[in-house]
Amino acid sequence: MREQDSDVIIVGGGAGGAELAVRLARAGCARVRLIDQAATHVWKPRLHELAAGAARGELGEIRYRDLAERWGFVFEQAALGAIDPQEKTITLAAGDAQQQRAYRVLVLALGGTTPDLGVDGVTEHAFMLDRAPDAEALYKRFTQALDEAAVQTPPRPARVVIVGTGLTGVELASYLASHAHVVARADTTHAQTLAIHLVEASATFMPGFDDAPTRRGVRTRLEALGVTVHTGQTIARVEADGVVTEQGTRLDSDMTVWATGRVGPPLAVHDERLPANDKQQWRVGKTLQSVAHADIFALGDCCALEDSPWPATAQVASQQAEHLSAQIMAYLDGDTPAAFVFRDKGVLMSFGAGGDLGLVRGPRGDTLRIHGHVSHAAYRALERQHQWVLLGTRATVEGAAGDFFDTLRARYV
Ligand SMILES: Cc1cc2nc3c(=O)[nH]c(=O)nc-3n(C[C@H](O)[C@H](O)[C@H](O)COP(=O)(O)OP(=O)(O)OC[C@H]3O[C@@H](n4cnc5c(N)ncnc54)[C@H](O)[C@@H]3O)c2cc1C
Repeated sequence: MREQDSDVIIVGGGAGGAELAVRLARAGCARVRLIDQAATHVWKPRLHELAAGAARGELGEIRYRDLAERWGFVFEQAALGAIDPQEKTITLAAGDAQQQRAYRVLVLALGGTTPDLGVDGVTEHAFMLDRAPDAEALYKRFTQALDEAAVQTPPRPARVVIVGTGLTGVELASYLASHAHVVARADTTHAQTLAIHLVEASATFMPGFDDAPTRRGVRTRLEALGVTVHTGQTIARVEADGVVTEQGTRLDSDMTVWATGRVGPPLAVHDERLPANDKQQWRVGKTLQSVAHADIFALGDCCALEDSPWPATAQVASQQAEHLSAQIMAYLDGDTPAAFVFRDKGVLMSFGAGGDLGLVRGPRGDTLRIHGHVSHAAYRALERQHQWVLLGTRATVEGAAGDFFDTLRARYV
């Protein structure tokens, strides 16, 4: 084996991939290599906060190199270009150079992307929120739009259209509405500052959520923040200054955000040797192994089990990472990996000034609705759990203590 060859290569250091690299290294797996196109890791479920200017300087980025040094794996910053399952190699692009790496086990953890659904003008005129640079670009445009609108005569609100009422769309709408005042430089009233339109193609608001009271609760919170919700409106075209729906409505927009759900990475449709489904996610069996190659595993948003897809959430990616850390060790020793079973713990949503809301599922499938401080604590606990895996107990306790004092300061000072 050459120095650059590995027992386990993980491509993608997101919610699942970064946890898996750390867990494997901590469990004593000697030759683990993590590859990511970025140099730093961010906790993606808070990207909407960054986009709205709510978590600036607060959303701790973690350098992959520091993690690698701390836990004893190799990190390489490069983009995955191709996979050769027969030769058991991958091709990486880092700058102009192309390099090959050999593996015994490959784990694909590349996450997902937002589909443009073939709608005209999306690529040219709409923002998406898939990665940290997207959040930065969105924040920049948001502040510009607020500034430009405020100096019109007479001043008018900045107009934002968000397409899609999944988690990304609703959380982003509420955070933009909550933070426009903080971000806007001009001294304006709320009505003059921002007008947000949240557009859904289905007749049902948040069609991906089966709990009607939660859907109603979210909608009420958004409307209280001044967000206008449109259902049954399919976008036909996105233009530089607005969107047009198939139903004939035109909404003017200074900033359009496309948040129409999640499909797998573009790479998944490029090579037929690794089968993918129609949402460009690699097809895996119950053990999270590719249906075509037993030594290729996948986790998180980039893969799907046929007929029984898991939701595209950090909760799933994290549970899969924990499962795979044990099963890959067993597989390297010649054992058959066990099936992954998803334990649905519910969903937690954060709405800025609109408060937090959660739906917690108990072990027997019973459901508890939570809100306010309980929900906020549970929401942050998911991130803290991720940090605990990556950074260990001390850094997590320090972070949690910081959160606690921030809450006290916000309430009493
Ligand atoms: C705004 C927003 C809010 C969300 N809110 C929640 C929430 O409240 N709760 C929840 O559970 N989930 C939430 N999610 C979903 C959650 O973030 C994802 O489901 C989760 O991050 C998926 O984890 P993953 O490991 O599959 O991929 P990701 O976390 O997406 O990581 C993929 C990694 O792969 C890297 N990569 C991609 N392509 C390549 C390539 N070609 N070469 C090398 N590296 C590559 C990327 O740089 C990235 O680091 C939210 C998502 C967004 C965008």
